[in-house]
Amino acid sequence: MIQTLRENPQDAEIDSHKLLVRAGIVKKLAGGLYTYLPLGTRSLKKVERIVREEMDRAGALEIVMPILQPAELWKQSGRWESMGPGMFRVTDRGEHEYSLAPTAEETVTEVVRNIVSSYRQLPVTVYQIHWKFRDEIRPRFGLMRSKEFLMKDAYSFDVTMEAADRSYMAMFEAYKRIFARCGLKAYPVEADTGDIGGKFSHEFHVLAEAGEDGIAFCETCGYAANLEKAERKSANRNDAPCPPYEEIPTPGARTISEVAKFMGVDGSAFVKSLVYNADGTCVMVCVPGDRDVNEVKLKHFLGAKKLELADGESVFKAAGANAGSVGPVNPADASLRIVCDLELKGAKGCIVGANKDGYHLKHVDLARDCRIAEGDWADLVIVRDGDICAKCGKPMVIKRGIEVGHVFKLGTKYTDAFKALYKTSDLKESTMVMGCYGIGVSRTVQAVVEQSHDKDGIIWPAAVAPYQVCICLLDPGVTEVAEIAGRLEAELEAMGIDVIVDDRAERPGVKFKDADLIGFPVRAVVGAKGLANGGVEIKRRDQDKSQMQMCAPSEAAAAIARMLGEAMP
Ligand code: ATP
Ligand code: MG
Repeated sequence: MIQTLRENPQDAEIDSHKLLVRAGIVKKLAGGLYTYLPLGTRSLKKVERIVREEMDRAGALEIVMPILQPAELWKQSGRWESMGPGMFRVTDRGEHEYSLAPTAEETVTEVVRNIVSSYRQLPVTVYQIHWKFRDEIRPRFGLMRSKEFLMKDAYSFDVTMEAADRSYMAMFEAYKRIFARCGLKAYPVEADTGDIGGKFSHEFHVLAEAGEDGIAFCETCGYAANLEKAERKSANRNDAPCPPYEEIPTPGARTISEVAKFMGVDGSAFVKSLVYNADGTCVMVCVPGDRDVNEVKLKHFLGAKKLELADGESVFKAAGANAGSVGPVNPADASLRIVCDLELKGAKGCIVGANKDGYHLKHVDLARDCRIAEGDWADLVIVRDGDICAKCGKPMVIKRGIEVGHVFKLGTKYTDAFKALYKTSDLKESTMVMGCYGIGVSRTVQAVVEQSHDKDGIIWPAAVAPYQVCICLLDPGVTEVAEIAGRLEAELEAMGIDVIVDDRAERPGVKFKDADLIGFPVRAVVGAKGLANGGVEIKRRDQDKSQMQMCAPSEAAAAIARMLGEAMP
């Protein structure tokens, strides 16, 4: 059941996906669905074991909840609707509807509320390591974004917000240990907390070019936040005064680059104006022409529950023109609220839409010509490379990351919906405070490969390698050689080291190539020629040939154990 391939699979875009398939770790069944072959299953189980040990160490209790979740639970939280098409739904023969678990906040809250009734039973954190299902718009990158994946999901229940912070920190620390033990360098990164606020949502990211998420990093002070959340300090502009604004026809030019081209100027003088619908009320948002609105920040700033771009009709009603000609100077609706990115404070000589189709205004001084309230200037854009760190004032860099875990303080969102109450010491009823904590166990396996490989194949960290040692037996037909390999295998196993013997009737070159491709941390070569020349040849996968060691067969096991110890993360 070990099948290595010389060719890359056609649908694989990133190295780790190519290598997992080529090394026979996983096999694709259909889009977003994979079989973990024997090698892959071993690595998956090893990651799982590390996760389990650290959850247990942090005091969490393992449970297993049904994957089939009754629709009623989702209806109670309101997520039967809001999860949308991303959730797989099935119906039984009695016409009862269920979801295939994409996550389990509803289920766990229903379970815990029926068991816990007193403050004496709190705090409690439960977890499971179980399959999750999501109908991803674009399943891709192998195990990174699949339709079915293994997740560790934990949920904490506490008496107060402060107590919940302690449960959160226990999980945060456990996550650091888990990823370090997997041989991964994973960074905790501040993420948006939704309605909760505060600093209690972190994603754990493995940095990689192939990562789907952007992260702002400040190498000076250590600030790290995902792009949804990342804040910047922006210097107000202080442009030279400009003459009164003037209308200019810009027929047919709809985008900023089209208008810029038409006017023969670059994009920096433009102000991008968009009309949003925030809980049913239109708001105009202005940002520098070369920037994008950060809708998460905007939503928080407006204190909106629901935020989306306004439809065409509403835009026309609010501004007096269609999107593309909208601007902050005299919109049709004189009471339209205009909020503006801080960088534009002091901006003069701007080009904005004229609120008249096919026209723009130039020489606009935002403070002079627009009605923007003093409190409506804020940081509203997505940060980019070189932006100034809000914490320390030094430039930030943007890196790509793979989200392997997420810790999140939920507050009482679900415990309110499910009336998960407990009795306090003075016999009053109070609502439990919750946190949820996920790790993509299968995604973590692939993140390890993405972080640790070279042109020849995978370089497994010893703790999660399918086997820690591969004995390449070069002359399986020669009894004496086979015996030495067999002895070495038994000695290593007795030391608790995972070992596989490649005794196939293949050429040495093929065996070496496969050992490198699969990426066993240590390779031991046992062959007639080697034994005649000094013994067993041992080499670490992450070191080159020059660091190969020769040792007597009787000393090989001890030498390998030493090598592995050095290779352990
Ligand atoms: P993403 O933003 O990558 O879609 P998410 O924020 O929706 O992930 P969570 O709900 O926080 O994911 O799930 C917890 C963990 O499960 C994630 O940190 C990630 O490691 C993993 N995960 C989520 N979706 C997938 C998927 N489709 N395939 C594999 N792992 C996944
Ligand atoms: Mg997440």
